Formats: sequence, C-alpha cells, structure tokens
Amino acid sequence: MHTNSVIELSQNALKNNIAFLRKTFGSKVQLSSVVKGNAYGHGIYSFTSMAYAAGVNHFSVFDVEEAKTIHAHLNQKVTIMVMGLVTDEDMEWVITNEVEFFVFEKKRLLKALKTAKLFQKKAKIHIELETGMNRTGFDKKELGSLIAILKKEKEYFEFKGICTHYAGAESIANYYRIDKQIKKFEEMHQIIVAHDLKPEIKHSACSAASIMFPQTRMDLVRIGIMQYGLWPSPEVFVNYLNTKKSKVDPLQRVITWKSKIMNIKTVQAGEFIGYGNSFLAERKMTIAVIPIGYSHGYSRSLSNQGRVLIKGHRCMVVGSINMNMMTVDVTDISNAKIEDEVILIGRQDNISISVASFSDLSNQLNYELLTRISKTIPRKITD
Ligand SMILES: *Cc1c(COP(=O)(O)O)cnc(C)c1O
Repeated sequence: MHTNSVIELSQNALKNNIAFLRKTFGSKVQLSSVVKGNAYGHGIYSFTSMAYAAGVNHFSVFDVEEAKTIHAHLNQKVTIMVMGLVTDEDMEWVITNEVEFFVFEKKRLLKALKTAKLFQKKAKIHIELETGMNRTGFDKKELGSLIAILKKEKEYFEFKGICTHYAGAESIANYYRIDKQIKKFEEMHQIIVAHDLKPEIKHSACSAASIMFPQTRMDLVRIGIMQYGLWPSPEVFVNYLNTKKSKVDPLQRVITWKSKIMNIKTVQAGEFIGYGNSFLAERKMTIAVIPIGYSHGYSRSLSNQGRVLIKGHRCMVVGSINMNMMTVDVTDISNAKIEDEVILIGRQDNISISVASFSDLSNQLNYELLTRISKTIPRKITD
C-alpha cells in the first residue's frame, strides 16, 4: 500500500447522488450501480459497501473477477450482473452462484445452457441485442436461431432481461444513430415477445442515455459516472439544466485524492526543472515536490498542464510528471512547507479541482483518468 497519498470517498455525496438518481427515474425504474474499472477508480470494495449502505441492491460489472469481489462481501444481499466477459472457466461459478450475465453470441449461450444442465441450476441470462454499436449483441438476422434455441432449452435458463448499449448518447452529434438504435431495440424486442419468450425486464440506458433520451430508462438503468458525482459530458449537464429552474449541479463528487508536499526547493531564473528541458524557470521560483506520478495514475499528459490545490490556491504542475513524483509551482504562496496538504482531486477552502477540469486539460475523459488511479492507494470512507 502507498502511504504517500490517500483517496477519501464521501458517503454523504454518494447518498445525495443516489437520492437524486432515484428521484429523477422514479420508483418504477430499477437502479443498477455500474462498478466496472475498479468502480471507476474509486475502489470497488469500498465503493460497493458504501453504495449498499446507501440502498443500492443491484450492481453491474464487466467481468467475473469484479463479480467475485462483490460476491465476497455482499453475497445474498444484492443482484450482480456481468455485462462483459464470462469465460468458459468462469461459467460454473457464475451459474452456481446465481450471478446474472449478458449473453451476446451463440457460443456463449450454448456454453451457458450446457453448464446449467450439468449443475442443475438455471442460468440467469440477459440477451444482448446488436442495435447499431457494432460491438456485442445478437444481430437481427440471428434472432431466428436464437429464438429456436431459447424455446427448445426453456427449462435451463431464467430469461432475466433483454438489453442493448448505445454508441455515444453523451453527444447530440450522435442523435440520429441513437434514435435508430432505440427503434431497432423495440423492433427486435417485439419479435422475441411474439415468439412467446418473455424477458423479465428490458434495459438499455447508461447515464447519458437516461438523461438525454428518457424513453431509454425502461425497467432498469445502468448508471456509472453520475453516481460518482460527474456528468458524462458537459452537453448532458447543460441538457439537464435546460429542463430545470435551478442552475445548481445536483451531483456531488464522491472522490477526493490528497497527498502532502515531500520537498521544497528554490530554483534560480534560467534553470530547467525536472527531466529534460520542458520547463524553464523564467524567474526565481519556489517548487514543491509531490510524491505522486504516473505510476499512481496521474497521467503524464498532465505534465506542465495539471493543477493541484495547496493552501487554498491553484498551483501549476511544472515540468514532466515522473513515475513517482511531480513538481508544482508554489512561488506565490507564502510559506508552503513540507507536509502541507495537496489536493489532486477535490476541494480545499473554497476552490476545487474537479476530475473534469483535469481531463479537459489532458484531452481525456473523466472515465479514463478515474480508472487509471492506482488500486494500491488506500481508500478511506468519510462522511
Ligand atoms: C459502462 C457501462 C454503463 C455505464 O455507463 P456510464 O456512462 O458510466 O453511466 C452502462 N452500460 C454498459 C453496457 C456499460 O458498459
């Protein structure tokens, strides 16, 4: 475990976000908390405990490793749904532990049914339909053979749901593509139902779709980024605000990432700072060294770009982000000293560094920066 930084997770912020989401979607729509990618970098174990305490009882993951982490501490109390990969080796565990999973191609379906027969336990499947993302899901032309298999093997599975995923609902530029997907999903749903196969639920929405296209909410929404207190894109946030009188952001960021100054240095005008010559001190400067680098998930692309908070001031990263360290300019802050608190993401006094601001700077999405944050940094749950 690293002790040079800590990630704090706010229980109250999460409670607020879950309450907002429930209010937005209403009581008829089930909320599934998406916790793939180590709960978007927050730490899957801590985050799922917090979410459970906030009333969440349905989790979506990408793979079986993540499902096992949740199963190990919330077993029996929650529904776990694997949206991505279930390998042949994992099929037995998934079915015998009643974990639900997406089935998006025929080979997987046959393996699931075979395993179900072998262990006398029904596979809890969600049939994923290809509606235009062109990634995973059964094509319309495969429906005939899919339906034939499902009808023949009825007693070996529970038809938990049918689902699809949209190709970029966070951007208005994709409006027509998403709209086509929504229609295609309904059309394929009708074909399945017409053959007397009744999925328990229908689901399709991620955060962006749930706000931009309310008709995609259906029976369950799979919400990732918004429960962490971030919007999928500025467009989605603006779109949401346009429907409201209040212009206050209803979401609260759950994560805070903090460290401490490990060294202070004075640099003379005309000297370069750090490796190479990417930053030249044009005046006499005071530099604080922070024990965080790209090995901890602070992207190298934030070299000479990122900002951190020290003593309530925004400070520029100067020079390149190293593997374990970075340097920031504290010239204009009076008496910054070793051990002073440094906020990488979060709030200090009245200013805040949001993940969004650091991802705008590095041209990456919130999603990517968050999931890069190292698993080995300790997570601490706070109020
Ligand atoms: C990641 C993911 C989601 C959640 O996306 P957000 O934009 O974070 O809400 C929903 N569905 C699927 C299939 C996903 O992979």
